[in-house]
Amino acid sequence: MDRMLRRWARPVMAALAMVLLMQVSAPASAETPVERHGRLSVQGNRIVDQHGAPVSLHGMSLFWSQWQPQYYNRDAIQWLADDWNISVIRAAIAVHAGGYMEHPEAEMARAEAAIDAAVAAGVYVIIDWHAHDPEPEAASRFFASIASRYGDLPNLIYETWNEPLPQYDWATSVRPYHEAVIGVIRAQDPDNLVIAGTPRWSQDVDIAAETPLTFDNVAYTLHFYAGSHRGDLRAKAATALSKGVAIFVTEWGTTNADGDGGVDAAETELWWRFIADNQLSDLNWSVADKDEASAALLPGASGQGGWTLDQISPSGRLVRERLRTLDR
Ligand code: MG
Repeated sequence: MDRMLRRWARPVMAALAMVLLMQVSAPASAETPVERHGRLSVQGNRIVDQHGAPVSLHGMSLFWSQWQPQYYNRDAIQWLADDWNISVIRAAIAVHAGGYMEHPEAEMARAEAAIDAAVAAGVYVIIDWHAHDPEPEAASRFFASIASRYGDLPNLIYETWNEPLPQYDWATSVRPYHEAVIGVIRAQDPDNLVIAGTPRWSQDVDIAAETPLTFDNVAYTLHFYAGSHRGDLRAKAATALSKGVAIFVTEWGTTNADGDGGVDAAETELWWRFIADNQLSDLNWSVADKDEASAALLPGASGQGGWTLDQISPSGRLVRERLRTLDR
């Protein structure tokens, strides 16, 4: 009996030791981004995590929800978390052109699916009201519903107006819109991060910074496309930061602003350096299999993830390679 015990005890002990060792040496990535950073807030011109440390999220924006709904699901978002190493996903909930104004239930269901998927994957999720023109009443209804049901989740980030067109002035149009819509959100959810769109397709962050919003935990949207926007837009962003507001790049592309024109890798590299130097967060546009240069996937790529390199576009490969090198 004694000998039998010794015969079995050694391999069992060895196996136990192995299990313990594996737990001790498990990589930090076993912890999800949301477990690691928890609730986000704004301190000065930085986004900080639950420990008060500046945090930079990096990830992918989904495409217009009404045109590429096939990626608004758990499998695709889990794949982006596991293989692309994202810490944040953006649901671009369409408003016009067959979006929420016409089909509120369908678009709400897509927002819900993205939130559920982000919670399961342990990543942050931006619910983006993907509009160029204001729809304050519809936006207020939409965000009141999202905030009342999901406002307790550390994952949730609100984006109240994607890209205001140039005719919407900050002082008289965009700012009052955000004050109204964020007021509705804050009545349900006092604290989650809100990102506010800025005039001229979310480029005039310097103008927004002159008269910022009155709410806490608000950052301002900066969008850039490397083929179209260069040092002069980085200078505007630097001005906004120097005025003390936080900036969040909820959408950027490697291509021209129209989403096409090929990948500008050199200018993209300059933007990445700017993002790193200023501890910004960013999401690349976009998870789509549309036949255009900014789409990360090639036509026909599965809605369930699992994409091989030959299903990923040149832009998507460049972006994925970078994401895989970043901490989350
Ligand atoms: Mg909250």
